[in-house]
Amino acid sequence: QRSCLHFTTRLSRWQYCKQSARSVLEHELETIRTGGTWKGERIITSKQGPHINVDGSRGDILNFCANNYLGLSSHPQVVEAGIEALKKYGAGLSSVRFICGTQDIHKDLEQKLAKFHEREECILYASCFDANAGLFEVLLGPDDAVLSDELNHASIIDGIRLCRAKRFRYKHMDLNDLETQLKQSQSSRMRLVVTDGVFSMDGDVAPLKGICDLAEQYGALVFIDECHATGFMGPRGRGTDELLGVMDRVHIVNSTLGKALGGAAGGYTVGPKPLIDLLRQRSRPYLFSNSLPPPVVGCATRAVELLLASNEIAQSVGAKTMRFRNKMTEAGFTISGSAHPICPVMLGDARLASLMADDMLKLGVYVIGFSYPVVPKGKARIRVQISAAHTDQDIDRAVDAFIQTGRKHGVVS
Ligand code: PLP
Repeated sequence: QRSCLHFTTRLSRWQYCKQSARSVLEHELETIRTGGTWKGERIITSKQGPHINVDGSRGDILNFCANNYLGLSSHPQVVEAGIEALKKYGAGLSSVRFICGTQDIHKDLEQKLAKFHEREECILYASCFDANAGLFEVLLGPDDAVLSDELNHASIIDGIRLCRAKRFRYKHMDLNDLETQLKQSQSSRMRLVVTDGVFSMDGDVAPLKGICDLAEQYGALVFIDECHATGFMGPRGRGTDELLGVMDRVHIVNSTLGKALGGAAGGYTVGPKPLIDLLRQRSRPYLFSNSLPPPVVGCATRAVELLLASNEIAQSVGAKTMRFRNKMTEAGFTISGSAHPICPVMLGDARLASLMADDMLKLGVYVIGFSYPVVPKGKARIRVQISAAHTDQDIDRAVDAFIQTGRKHGVVS
């Protein structure tokens, strides 16, 4: 009887626990909803591309919010390469790299990426989030220091949190503040300056030349995250370091295969051979997570081959970006950044950004409003992303839709 009572008490405690956990979670969800920061997900029922079908919206929708900068996500050759790799190498490896998860195609892609970035070696990860999570802990110890731009991507911030180096945060793209932090960290054994090459919310480009000058002056290394630059920034699309003429002065580059390079998934680090060798021994997301699936490797490899073969594709998004930026500015909108295909249409008010994005979808143009905490308070915007796959007509249609909704909401006259 006693054990039966004991069991009933434990059961009801468990039920209580379950219920209170549920109410804690529901309260948290409600806080997000009432705070106006709920992120809904629209469901796409077609391939990724400039024209998509969206569940609940009729017909062809113009897509202006993918990171599909070069239009390679559904490029016939990229898709075909994925299918070939799937047929030849199977769906996946069921293993991490060092057990039985390395195929010749993984090594081939690593070599091609190292060649593309003109660095000694490359290591693949399941994502750039993983590449950022796995780098700093391996490279930096308690005697070292990391100097990070305050607006760096969340995955860089998380990666830095995992390492035991001293942390210094400098004001966004502020070289004076970086110099102050370099002076303050002078006693550290090794110092690493860490920045996004292009910051994804504004499309602004890090002042890499100034960063490299300071890093050399104070004996620091430089790391850049090139997720929003690889494939299309610089004359051959090598990235921000190529654009700013510092390819030989930036020591480590992390980037993604999930944006311009075919858009499937995957990330990587390129840099000096000893660093890459050490990452293979110690980097936790590499050691303890499954290998990139062959179809993903196949798609990315073909995307890199296309870029290695010709500059044309890397250049294909520039003119379209300027067409959008110029027409929108002429119409009276404020577009942040300068020449990057991330074109933030600045609106200020969070509700306005969200209402305008909804109205744009009614006109057949899919864009997304961003507000606090993703961007600073009072800096709500609609982030438009141009792709090489957009036609001039697509861009003009988007501008017309902006003008129509902008007039409705009193943003332009
Ligand atoms: N770094 C930056 C600057 C990004 O924008 C992103 C993705 O949004 C990542 C890292 C993560 O890349 P992945 O999607 O490959 O994990």
